[in-house]
Formats: sequence, structure tokens, C-alpha cells
Amino acid sequence: MCRHASDRCPKSIVSCWVRVRVRSILIAATLLLAMAGLGASAEAQAGQPIAQRQLGKAAHLSNAELADPQLEARVEKLLRQMTLEEKIGQLVQYNDTGDAAEAAGPGKGAASSKLSALAAINPETTHPVNAKQLAATGGLGSMLNTVGKDRTNLYQHLAVEKSRLHIPLLFGADVIHGYRTIYPVPLGLAASFDLELAAAVSRMSAEEATTAGVRWFYSPMVDISRDARWGRSTEGAGEDPYLGAAMARAYIRGYQGESLANPGSVAASVKHFAAYGAAEAGREYNTTDMSEIALRQIYLPPYQAAVEAGAATIMSAFNALNGVPASANPFLMSKILRGEWGFNGLVVSDYTAVMELINHGIALDAATATRKALMAGVDVDMMSHFYDTELPELVRSGQVPLAVVDEAVRRVLRVKFATGLFEHPYAEGPEVTAAVAEHRPLVRKAAEESFVLLQNDKLANGAPLLPLSPGRQRIALIGPLGDDTGEMVGAWGGAGTERDTVTLRHALEGRAQKAGLQLVYAKGTAIDDPSQAGFDEAVQAARKADVIILALGESGAMSGEGGSRSKLDLPGNQQQLLEAVAATGRPVVLLVFSGRPLVLDWAAHHVSAIMEVWFPGSEAGNAIANVLFGDVTPSGKLPMSFPRAVGQEPLYYSQFPTGRPPVGIDLSKAPTGEERFHSRYIDVPNDALFPFGYGLSYSTFAYRDVRVSKGSIPLAQALENRSTPLVEATATVTNTGDRTATEVVQCYVRNLGASVEQPVRSLKGFERVTLAPGESKRVRFSLGFKELSFIGQESAATMEATQYTVWIGGSSLASQEAAFQVVSPSRTAAGN
Ligand code: BGC
Repeated sequence: MCRHASDRCPKSIVSCWVRVRVRSILIAATLLLAMAGLGASAEAQAGQPIAQRQLGKAAHLSNAELADPQLEARVEKLLRQMTLEEKIGQLVQYNDTGDAAEAAGPGKGAASSKLSALAAINPETTHPVNAKQLAATGGLGSMLNTVGKDRTNLYQHLAVEKSRLHIPLLFGADVIHGYRTIYPVPLGLAASFDLELAAAVSRMSAEEATTAGVRWFYSPMVDISRDARWGRSTEGAGEDPYLGAAMARAYIRGYQGESLANPGSVAASVKHFAAYGAAEAGREYNTTDMSEIALRQIYLPPYQAAVEAGAATIMSAFNALNGVPASANPFLMSKILRGEWGFNGLVVSDYTAVMELINHGIALDAATATRKALMAGVDVDMMSHFYDTELPELVRSGQVPLAVVDEAVRRVLRVKFATGLFEHPYAEGPEVTAAVAEHRPLVRKAAEESFVLLQNDKLANGAPLLPLSPGRQRIALIGPLGDDTGEMVGAWGGAGTERDTVTLRHALEGRAQKAGLQLVYAKGTAIDDPSQAGFDEAVQAARKADVIILALGESGAMSGEGGSRSKLDLPGNQQQLLEAVAATGRPVVLLVFSGRPLVLDWAAHHVSAIMEVWFPGSEAGNAIANVLFGDVTPSGKLPMSFPRAVGQEPLYYSQFPTGRPPVGIDLSKAPTGEERFHSRYIDVPNDALFPFGYGLSYSTFAYRDVRVSKGSIPLAQALENRSTPLVEATATVTNTGDRTATEVVQCYVRNLGASVEQPVRSLKGFERVTLAPGESKRVRFSLGFKELSFIGQESAATMEATQYTVWIGGSSLASQEAAFQVVSPSRTAAGN
């Protein structure tokens, strides 16, 4: 399930499960050096202090199924029978290509190249790891990206029938936005603000993948990302902790269902713990550094929400946080995750993350890396080949207490028992091997709801360009994304295939035939190619058209893992193509395919209609056509701010105040005189071109009567009663247009006067509301401690006697407000 630049297939589980990564070669080189000569100094470091585990401190355990006493009895009984090697085996994870003996055999060209790719990632595999043999001898606990009924059952038979204790393997896979039937990339799905939809598509993908033996998803990715340069923005819910937490809960609900034991359920792995999305400069795998307040207030809420929703597993991240790599970070894993949140699932490392501790410079050898990772709370070693080689001696020498290994094994076994693997180890029943026809309406709806209409100017006739009117008979579809099945899916395309994907050209041809439209397609250029050979044909097609639909943007490989970009423009010469086509003067609808916000400044000034369509998945073309022609009215809102220039990144609406806000200054002009001494740029406004929460409809909405139910709340009440609502914020929203449409009503809050400065506004509620023309609805948001508190200087959530402003509207620019205050006899906002 990987995707890299040279590979046109989507990051597919089936066709490409070995990743070729430049970083890996660097890792390999560094590791070899480290292992060759630095063992002695590593020993000297072995005594570095490691914070004590804080087990049992939380008031509750996060997942009741994993805490079941009967399950625990089975775990203990099995644990008592296990040798040290068998215990360690449960903590080891390899992929299919770990079967070096088989892969290297004669006539195995593809397998051999997989092997050499793997060797580049992990030199240890050059002394062969035979996954089959490991499975048969109890030396392997789980496998990654080994999918398909035949393949998983093959390994499972070895584990269950041949190994001494018959412990089944757990098969995990990167099913990120669909297994065979693919829905939009997670950033797009987040734009729907539709939690039921997110739960439904997650459930659908779990039900598909379990037929292929997969019972564990490395998803959801809940990393907050506020920097569009970071390619993995595409895999998460964007910049906002409130939306991120809500989406995280929805994914867990879908994946794990009512019970982990349900045959269609998978254990979720919430990733990447923690703060991976804060990579400096948006550069993949880069370090992160932030205050504990920022960590807890901005980055941790989605992980915590997922844990509270019962997520069975967590994946530790690649990045260092404040100097300590997340995969050896007791503060994150022992103190917060297990100690404060009561997480009782298992923690798996990210891919070779244990090995990478050496590159991070906090371990000089494999033994130290192993010890640090396990002691900090990483239970399962994904692909590093360290736990299996190092732990036996570490335990025997007393450097790692057996009790720590035992506890990690318990966590693995609990998940295996809870998922019912001991009773049903094999993929049974018919396997889903292609996109499922019955699932297409759902993924089409997901795509339609993910689209964000960014611009829809009125033309000379007074009507906006979209939806396309029947009068526009001659359509020119232009651009490299107009007819490319492979590019409709984006990063991490699961096991979806091009064969199952509908392009826009395909969908428009169908409509053209039925409605007597004339459709001309011209690719114009490739996604990332300097050749202008196709420009003439595109411009000719444009000239003859009543409307031009330009399908431009990124390839799927430009985002996702390893997809950081320093430029956020349309890649290649697509901007030139856009300009050449727009110069014809014909009306242009620009469809932007991307895994992140792009800079669309020129387009916003020269193009009538712009719609962000992300990477829509299997039903891409049909969904886009439905929205273009108005069968469906767009309702998506941006989960990440779209910058005017890349230099604004990281850019997010929930900014912190500055002592010199540029109030009353026209930031579109270069400063004169004193105007420069404000927090501003001299060459671009501060704000986003299209901000968080923004998105147009084919209808219009009006807001009125924003109110709060109370003018003041006693502080003592707020602090004592943390789970009941404190105040209700309400507004009336009316559909003022002439078609039924859905609006995402959003509630934002500002807290002024606290001892720690708070963002200028933060999302604290949203609701999708569908209204007929002229219809109104009073929308209500309950605000309690959870919504109104902030992380204080003691690093804990608190409230103080402060003043709150509430806005309710259709984006983060909502302007209608109400206010209340939290009062205390002894303290006032001004006196905090
Ligand atoms: C990625 C994870 C993924 C894992 C397994 C890593 O490189 O960071 O998100 O789950 O590989 O494929």
C-alpha cells in the first residue's frame, strides 16, 4: 500500500507494498555506521534515565472490551505458557516481503526487487527474515500490508496450525480511505463536516477489508496539520482540533463498530502519536518543538477523542517532540496516553521507527533503541527487526524487566482475543476483490459532500456560472486530471484499481449522450511536465466551447507520505495552460484536484468558478458531474485554510493574538509610514485567500439572532460540573436562495482575559442543516467545560473568570456575535 512518484498505480496494497524511499537509504547508511563502530559508547548510554511507567493512574480504562475479566483470564492463562521467545514473537511485526528465503529464489524477479527495496529500508533483512518460518514457530505476532484471503490465510494456517501455542496473527493494513471501493482522501472527507458519513464509509471499508483477512487498520490519521506544505495533510482532518476530534470519533465508531468481535470490525490504529503534523517547515519526518500548552490544546485533542471512543491501538510517530523521539517518549506514551487517558490498547511503532531512534541520536545501538522504545511504551516493533534480535538478551541481562515484556504481550493478546481471532482466525466467506456496486452510492455521496465551491461569479447574464445551465451545450473538458483513472484516488489508495474508477470525461460522455451535449476533451498538458505540445489543441477546444471545465492539480503522489512541497502552485506548466485557456474569454470552471490547499490567487482573480475536489475516489467523475450540473448542491467547507502565498504557511484561522494587530490597515497595499510596525507582511495580506470553514453553495444562507442563554456563569459552577452544558448559543439560519441546500452551521468562541492568551477564535460546534428555499431553523450549540476551557499554565484544562464572544455563521469569518462572561466573586477577567 504505497505510492511513490514513479509509480502510477495508487498507493495500492496489492501491487506495491514495498516502499522505495530515499530516507530509507540514509537510515540504512547511518545505521550500519552506528552498528559497526559505536557499540561501546552505546553501552555507556544504556543507563540513561527513563521515566517510570505510570500505569494504573488513570481513573478508567479506555476500552471496555479489552478490560473484560474473562478475556483477561484467557490472556493470563496463555501468557503463563509462553517462553520468552514466544512472548517476544508477539511484539514483532513484518510484512510479506520479510519472507526473504522465498523472495530470493530463482525466477522471482519482482519479489527480489521487493527484497532489495526492503533491504534498503532495513539492512537487517539482508540476513533473511523468513516470515513464514517465524509465523510457524511463534516468532511473529502480526503482519502489515499482507492482504487478500489467500495470502493472509496462508500465514494464518502456519501460525495457528504449526506454532506451539497456536496464537493467530493479526493482519494490519493501511486502509486509509477505502479498501476496494474508494472514497475521498481524509482531508476531503473532513470537508463534508458529516460525521455520520465518515462513520458509514469507515464501516464500509472495514467490512470490505475483513473479507481479505485484515482485522487492523493503520487509520485514522488524526495529526493536526496547519502547514499545507506537509504532504500528509491529505491524510488527516486538517487544521482544527475540534473538527479533528469529531472526525476521529467518527472513524473509530465506523471501524470498530459495536464490538471488535464483530466479523466486519477492525481494530483502529490512531496515528501518529504525537504531533507529527507539526513538522517544522512542513518537511516530512522533521522535528517538532512546542510548548506543552500548545501540545495539549491544539495537537492532542483528536488523539484523546479517539482513545475515549475506544480506539484499540495507537501508532507512535516518527518525529521528535521537544527533543525526544515520539517512539521513545515516556511523557507521551506512559504519562499522557496510559497514565492520564487510561489507554489500555496496544502501541505499535511506525515503520522502522524503533530503528530510527539511532538516527535521532538518542541510541547508539540497536539494544538501546529497543530498550528505550519498549520502556517508553511501544509494544510492537513494526519492521525494525530490533525487538526480536535485541530483547532476548536485554531481558536475560536484566536491562529490560520481564514484567515490561509481559505487559506488552498482554496488550497484543487482548486485542487478538477481543477481535475474536482465536475463534475465527481465517478470512472466511466471499472475498471483496473489486469495488462493490452497492457501495458506490455511498462513496459518491461522500465525494459530492467533500467538494468545496470556492468561487462562483455571476456572468454577464446575471447568473452564476454554476450549476451549468442547459444552454451551455458545447463543453470543453481540458486538463490532465480530466481523464486519468489512476489519479482520482490520491495517496493511499487501498486496494482500489483504476478499472473501478470513473473519470470526469467518462461521466460527462454519459451525460452528453443522454442530454445531446457536445463534449470535447483535450489533455493540454501532463500534471508535471514542461511540454506545451498540447496547448494549441486545448485552446482550440476552448474557443469553440460554451463552457470550459479545467481539471487541474496535483498527482496523488505529490501528497501523502514523503509528499512535502515547498511550492503550492499548480505543478508543471498547468498555470500556463490555465492562463492560455482563460485568455479565450470563454467561461471557465476550474476543478482543483489536490491533497492539500494550493495557492489559487491568480485563478481567484481570473476564473469565474473554482471548486476544490481533492481526490474523490472510485466515483470521482460521477460525483463531480452531479455537482456541476446541479443534481447535487455543494455543501463542503474547507478543513484547512488556502493561502494567498506559500510564505504565509503555517496558516490557520485560529491564530493567537499579537500585541500589534494590523487593525484598520489595508494589508493589500505595501505599508507606508507607521503601517509597517504591525504584525503583517509587506507583500501579502495576513489572511487566507479561502479560510477554514469557508465554502459556497448554489443557494444562499442568512444568519440572525445570535444569542446566548446566559449573560454570566459562576466560575465555581463551571469548574465543579465539567460534564453538563453551561450555556447554549443559538442562531437562526435561513435558506435565502431558490433551491434546497445544506449549510454547515459553525459556532466559534473567543475567550478574553485569561491568564494564558487564547486564539482569536476557535471552532466549538458545527451542524449540517438542510433547508428548503425560504425555510429557517434555530440551531443550538451546547457549550460546557469541554468547549470553554483552555490549557492553563499548570498544563491542565481550566477555566477562569473571563469574557467570551460567540459567533455563529457559515465560516470562520462569521460576524454575528453574542457574549457572556464567567464570573467569580474573588476574580475578574481584568484581574486574572
Ligand atoms: C507510515 C504509516 C503507515 C506505515 C505502515 C509508515 O511509513 O508513516 O502511516 O501506517 O508506514 O505502512
